[in-house]
Amino acid sequence: MVVTEKKLIEVQPLGGFDQPLTYSTEEDQFKKIQVGSLVQIPLGKRKVIGIVWSFEGKSFKEPTLIRKILAIIQQAPVLTADLMKLASWISNYYSCSIESCIEAMIPASIREGMKPKSRRLIYLAANYQELLVGLKKAPAQTRVVSFLKKENRPTFISKVLESTKTTSATINSLLQKGVISEKKEIVERVAYEDEFLDSAEQVDQSIKLTDEQNIAVEEICRDLDTYKFKTRLLSGVTGSGKTEVYFEAMQQALNQKGSVLFLVPEVALAPQTVSRLRARFDSEKVVVWHSHLSAGERVDAWRSLINQEAKIVVGARSAIFAPLQHLRLIIVDEEHESSYKQEDTPRYHARDVAVVRAKMTSAVCVLGSATPSLESINNVEKGKYGLSRLSKRVDNRELPLVHLVDMRREADKTKNLPILSQQLVEALRDRIANREQSILFLNRRGFNTTMLCPDCGHVEQCKDCSIALTYHRTDGYLRCHLCGFRKPAPKSCNECKSFDLKKKGHGTQRIEDLVASLLPKRAQIRRVDADIMTKKNLFRETLSDFRKGKIDVLVGTQMIAKGLDFPKVTLVGVVDADLPLRMEDFRASERAFQMLVQVSGRAGRGNRAGEVFIQTYAPHSPSIQFARKCDLKGFLEEELEMRKEFNYPPYRHLIRHLFRGRSEAKVEYYTSEWAKLLEKQNLQDLTVKGPAPAPLEKIKGFYRYHFFYFTSSVSTALKQLKEIRAQFPLDPELHDILDVDAQQIS
Ligand code: ADP
Ligand code: ZN
Ligand code: ZN
Repeated sequence: MVVTEKKLIEVQPLGGFDQPLTYSTEEDQFKKIQVGSLVQIPLGKRKVIGIVWSFEGKSFKEPTLIRKILAIIQQAPVLTADLMKLASWISNYYSCSIESCIEAMIPASIREGMKPKSRRLIYLAANYQELLVGLKKAPAQTRVVSFLKKENRPTFISKVLESTKTTSATINSLLQKGVISEKKEIVERVAYEDEFLDSAEQVDQSIKLTDEQNIAVEEICRDLDTYKFKTRLLSGVTGSGKTEVYFEAMQQALNQKGSVLFLVPEVALAPQTVSRLRARFDSEKVVVWHSHLSAGERVDAWRSLINQEAKIVVGARSAIFAPLQHLRLIIVDEEHESSYKQEDTPRYHARDVAVVRAKMTSAVCVLGSATPSLESINNVEKGKYGLSRLSKRVDNRELPLVHLVDMRREADKTKNLPILSQQLVEALRDRIANREQSILFLNRRGFNTTMLCPDCGHVEQCKDCSIALTYHRTDGYLRCHLCGFRKPAPKSCNECKSFDLKKKGHGTQRIEDLVASLLPKRAQIRRVDADIMTKKNLFRETLSDFRKGKIDVLVGTQMIAKGLDFPKVTLVGVVDADLPLRMEDFRASERAFQMLVQVSGRAGRGNRAGEVFIQTYAPHSPSIQFARKCDLKGFLEEELEMRKEFNYPPYRHLIRHLFRGRSEAKVEYYTSEWAKLLEKQNLQDLTVKGPAPAPLEKIKGFYRYHFFYFTSSVSTALKQLKEIRAQFPLDPELHDILDVDAQQIS
């Protein structure tokens, strides 16, 4: 009898266990598997699928008790080694299960073992002539044979059937006789193949880089040439040509036989980027990776990356998990966008994961923005990130002229809160007359419950947290959603004593109708908002129509503020600039500033100068003033000072702890118990704020209360919190969840 040696391996089960487990394999099995292979394993009484996690199986059990893997399902790894390391990191840092990370990494269609789509090809067998006897009586079969002879290579069955006007019965009969043979070939589905060709024309191949662009390119290439991990912030004003810099850097990474990951903040921006990339790197295969791909497209994209056929991936947040091999460069465009943070488990931030993945693969990460996040600025100041700057628009194009429209005066005129100012309407009419394009920008819907004084623009704030207080209709109180502070809502403005406190907000639909009624009939007006985004192609089509000049005025929410490059737009109107400022979030000023600079940046990108109108009730607020002058430095200085004073991010990490349940009494009771328990602890490096009702206090019948923890070390904070939480018996009807580096605090 041959005694085969047993090897121990670690396998991460998919389905129900959140830690890799040790299994044994036979020697010959062991030789076949790789880290990342799929295997079938016993788990309790079930048989489940697992991913081979490492060859370092450790066991505290008797060797005889270690269970054997049942079968190898797929030898080829389903995840690259760095992604597996990344899954472990994410599960630790964001306090979620490894399995939820794997689910985010491997598309469901792959997990379910979906095979790539293949098509049948037929060709003449080598000895076909010997077998031809008797075919004379079968003219259809003869036609097929002569057709294949002429083609002289394997041909798709569909083509043969069509060209020879035969049926599949004829083919089958020839196959049976052995006259022809068949093979299968995998067909590729290429997403976005022919789309946006209209926008490709604007890619000018003969672009000569500006001096600033050249310097930035040199700096990134130098980073790449060290073959060491490096993160660099590319801070460049809108229209400064950051994309050209990315492209040059990508060229260098490709020259190094490496691959490139290009992240954009919004799925809808992928086609624009893809068409520019395809025009520039025409010999390279560009893979699009995002959540709107069909299952088939996804499988193909996945396979071409695993096979290393494709070296460029473009996509939104989840593309950070594309299984690229030999990763050399990760670009995160518009790195400040909060859409990079996933608001579901696993609650990862794709920008931060990009930096970690780059580190794990000794790659270079470039974070680009006209309005960098305070987190990234802080990392530059600490020396963790390098910095490259583009301070001018290309061709010395002017930054747009920004007018502030003081809506308090407009309110005087009409005794109502007006939606569009006279100035903005005039400017719109002007553009229609000159056949130029305009964008009207509306803020995302706020929670609409803060109180604004239309006479002086004052908004009541919490003294301790420096965020807007929220009005609660039920009890008539103003509340702080960070610390829970509350006081009765004032009857008149605390600042100017006006009695006319109003709440305001307008939908995109209403604005669209209003604009239509104010402009000449022939003006083409279109709306882009969340409703439209849900229809797969409508948004892309709208953008394409706008680019072609079929639309005069585009009305929309924040999605039209991001990264779009429309050279014919000469007017941008911001309908309500104050909304972000009134939000119950300490990032309100940062969001307002970023939004205003970004939207303004959509104007005047072509040869004609742009004009921007910002309608505001708070023309003197710092973020609006700094945005008007596009003064990034001034804004950063002021905002960082505030953050430092309150010890907010980026100076400390923010962990949000959300409790929810159907019974408000229970949620209130358990959160106050949790607060008491925390108070008794000797917490290290952990400041607790709360409990407070969340700004969206009730969603789908669930009441929501939250805590905010501020800490300089996520891992020590989580360690303490988890230990205490383990001793806290929460009512089974309640759920709680931790959101590390929370962005949205609604
Ligand atoms: P950003 O992302 O910095 O806002 P883009 O990369 O979209 O700017 O560039 C804005 C426009 O300027 C694009 O149409 C681009 O083709 C063009 N462009 C970029 N670099 C140059 C250059 N060196 N010379 C002329 N045009 C350029
Ligand atoms: Zn007032
Ligand atoms: Zn407060």
